[in-house]
Amino acid sequence: YLDKAFFKQSLLDMAKLTEEQRDYWTSLDSDIGDGDHGVNLSIGFRGISAQMNDLYEETEDIHSLLKKSGMILLSKVGGASGPLYGSFFMKMGEDVTGKNQVSYSEFLGMIKNGIAAVQHRGKAQVGDKTMIDAFLPGLEVLETYQVEEDPYQFFEKFIEVMKKGAESTIPLVANKGRAMRLGERAIGHKDPGSESSWMLMDIFNKNLK
Ligand code: ADP
Ligand code: MG
Ligand code: MG
Repeated sequence: YLDKAFFKQSLLDMAKLTEEQRDYWTSLDSDIGDGDHGVNLSIGFRGISAQMNDLYEETEDIHSLLKKSGMILLSKVGGASGPLYGSFFMKMGEDVTGKNQVSYSEFLGMIKNGIAAVQHRGKAQVGDKTMIDAFLPGLEVLETYQVEEDPYQFFEKFIEVMKKGAESTIPLVANKGRAMRLGERAIGHKDPGSESSWMLMDIFNKNLK
């Protein structure tokens, strides 16, 4: 079982990762966007870190901890990624409302719900050169989970597929977000949100072990 402390620790580790990757994610966004992706996420996750101890004490279940964290991303981040990642965390725990521990298969369902929320909010399709190019192939993998599979290896596969999805954005022209304005000049550059999304999900992967 994964408890509320697992999610607290994962959010704190995501905040740490964001500080480490801030300049890299921003540089990807400088190539095809407005050069603020790492900065945006850093502002959001710093907000989460700063409030984490209070959030952990105040919230009665995993869902509210994740929801309040998502609301911080939504309110603090100016860019497109704030509402998208915000929705991910806000919706993630909806089906496990009231619970303080979740099974591995419930956890997979939570990731699926988070991805569905990003899709619903951003309305992007695979091939639009966004984080959906990483998230959606990942979602398809999650749907194939069989109870007899080793959870750790399975989540590893999920991350590998997301990572490949991020690579797949390199040759694309963008149909959503700021990179749209560049037309063919976006070709040859990786979408920043597709890179941050697999790296953030990889924190769950590391913490499962
Ligand atoms: P902004 O573009 O407002 O400056 P960020 O730089 O923080 O915001 O985030 C940009 C990332 O957001 C893009 O790399 C892309 O992955 C993602 N993105 C933008 N629009 C959408 C959308 N409609 N659906 C999914 N992801 C999107
Ligand atoms: Mg940007
Ligand atoms: Mg911006």
